[in-house]
Amino acid sequence: MSSEFMIASSIFFIGKASIVYGALAFSFSMIGLILPNSFVVGNPLEVSGISFEHVFGHIMWGLVAGIASFSFRYAILSGLFPIILDFDHLLQFFEVEMIPRMAHSFTFGLIVMVVMMVIFGRKDLRLAAISIAAVFSHLSFDIFLVGGTEFPVLAPFTSEFITFTEPYWILFQFISIALIFVASIIFFKKQKIKIMK
Ligand SMILES: [Zn+2]
Repeated sequence: MSSEFMIASSIFFIGKASIVYGALAFSFSMIGLILPNSFVVGNPLEVSGISFEHVFGHIMWGLVAGIASFSFRYAILSGLFPIILDFDHLLQFFEVEMIPRMAHSFTFGLIVMVVMMVIFGRKDLRLAAISIAAVFSHLSFDIFLVGGTEFPVLAPFTSEFITFTEPYWILFQFISIALIFVASIIFFKKQKIKIMK
């Protein structure tokens, strides 16, 4: 395979996976329209604290976890997914009654992991791991940035917001790194077995 082809295929893969991830985060946020306790959240640019540090921090946190994939394309995706997860804020522009931060949920992490495996193949363990790990690294940085915040982590089963204090950023980032690391070890072990056969 030529290196140009490799680069093109990596860019295509990263683009496709990012679009799917964003579509899933946005679609999932729509469930918040029918949950109890929904309210008009307001323009995300005004109420959701979007800043340079916010965007940069999410990418950095994701990249750091992504290093555990030992792969350039997965590390890049691991940096992109956490910021793309914030697509769940887009619905706020429509000024409808909703639950904010829907994709900031463990349930979303599990769903997005399964859907990515269905779309990209069950063998792509690293992509599956990065998909759920991005939720943890995202929560980690949101907590780190403001020193404690709340998320509807069990949505859509309950729209209740659960508060996480400062030390949780360490736990969540650790979980994020561990998920990617374990998936990569399994992937490389399987590959080694294939080569030996
Ligand atoms: Zn967020």
